[in-house]
Amino acid sequence: RRKWNRMVGVLRELEEGCSTSLGRLRQVVDAMAVEMHAGLASEGGSKLKMLLTFIDHLPDGNEKGTYYALDLGGTNFRVLRVQLGGRGSGILGHEVQKQPIPLHLITSTSEELFDFIALTLKQFVEGEDNGSELQQNERRELGFTFSFPVRQISASSGILIKWTKGFSIEDLVGKDVTTCLQESMAKIELDMRVAALVNDTVGTLALGHYHDEDTVAAVIIGTGTNACYVERTDAIIKSQGLLTNSGGMVVNMEWGNFWSSHLPKTSYDIDLDAESPNPYDQARGQIFGCLFAGFEKMISGMYLGDIVRRVILRMAQESDIFGDVASSLSVPFILRTPLMSAMHEDDSPDLREVARILKDTLQISDVPLKVRRLIVRICDVVTHRAARLAAAGIVGILKKIGRDGSGGISSGRMKSGIESSSKMRRTVVAIEGGLYSSYTMFREYLKEAIVEILGEEIAQHVILRVSEDGSGIGAALLAASHSSSS
Ligand code: ADP
Repeated sequence: RRKWNRMVGVLRELEEGCSTSLGRLRQVVDAMAVEMHAGLASEGGSKLKMLLTFIDHLPDGNEKGTYYALDLGGTNFRVLRVQLGGRGSGILGHEVQKQPIPLHLITSTSEELFDFIALTLKQFVEGEDNGSELQQNERRELGFTFSFPVRQISASSGILIKWTKGFSIEDLVGKDVTTCLQESMAKIELDMRVAALVNDTVGTLALGHYHDEDTVAAVIIGTGTNACYVERTDAIIKSQGLLTNSGGMVVNMEWGNFWSSHLPKTSYDIDLDAESPNPYDQARGQIFGCLFAGFEKMISGMYLGDIVRRVILRMAQESDIFGDVASSLSVPFILRTPLMSAMHEDDSPDLREVARILKDTLQISDVPLKVRRLIVRICDVVTHRAARLAAAGIVGILKKIGRDGSGGISSGRMKSGIESSSKMRRTVVAIEGGLYSSYTMFREYLKEAIVEILGEEIAQHVILRVSEDGSGIGAALLAASHSSSS
């Protein structure tokens, strides 16, 4: 009985620490909008880097022809070929080839890495059965999704700021990524032009906009999390005199770094943050850098399972319920987020799946049903907080661009009072990533919170659209819309 009370005590404390009342969510919304402002005002003005992408127009469906993409951002890299039919026809077809990056290359030299990539690309191009659609001397064009921190110089070039996710090819830091790739392609006489260099969120935005021109932002919620959106150039104060034909530019927020004192932080988050530099990610066979911070650690798939593990560990320590069999509970990242969601969504009356995962993954058998129910509650609390914070982040973006129904802090248009819903424009946010697309409860909680924050009137104009393969296909679309012939 005493043990049970202690366990319930741990849960109650967690619930309190993770509470995301509407009032608190509104504070997070405001903080996000304010930080976005600060990040646009000056370099280093906020934890939000608000990186310029120089992408000033997005694909709209008129693109036509065959374009290529290269997607590098983790353990795998992918090459794609996308055929676009032009107005009304959409994407006629696409082929993808996925390939792991040989481990020795991620710590080699930039020349070795790009020689390897260029060669793979060349083989992919040569393997085309109907590559002859391209005219003899027509140059192939490529969209390059390179999901590492880059300081863009133009829409098609940029300097690597630093490596993350276990990559460490030091000679590339400070160099233009596109030039390096072009050099490797030239060496093997692969005639291809990098027409766009982007990160994965920008690819997702491009694909979203291609399908629906009301798409104004894209959010990725997978292993990590990030967002980008279309900003008015005159609101980008840190880069004065920036002119684009459209008057807008895509800004890569790097929102994983967002931090606000209004975020509901628990002792588990503090411990996770303190212990997280370079946790070895066995499942993906790579070491994650310590760039992940704040917002990302409360929201993304890399961390949610580990927060749950920490709470169960605390329960075990305080109640001694599992005896000494629970040593595997001390292993960081042993409880992956997909297992957490499987426990959370176990709808069998006796929570069989929960029992199986506890036994197989944590080597804890014979957990009483009521304790299993507590564990499901823990998963619920952690996911509920994550999804609601992500929702607040999205509404923060909408607020910044005046699409939250209240006028927006950057909007030059002065509005008296609340914009009526009839005047509220249809607003689409493209969302991609395994956490959002595969974890139903997360998705439901996120949608619910958007409605709660905005109110039903306004929320009915905000559409969250699931996107798939945006980082690859979107890059090819950007190659098309930034093609030298367009
Ligand atoms: P990445 O973000 O690594 O590029 P994805 O967008 O496919 O790739 O996201 C994968 C991540 O999504 C995993 O690391 C995991 O955290 C999360 N995820 C995948 N499937 C599930 C699931 N069924 N339940 C919860 N989270 C999941």
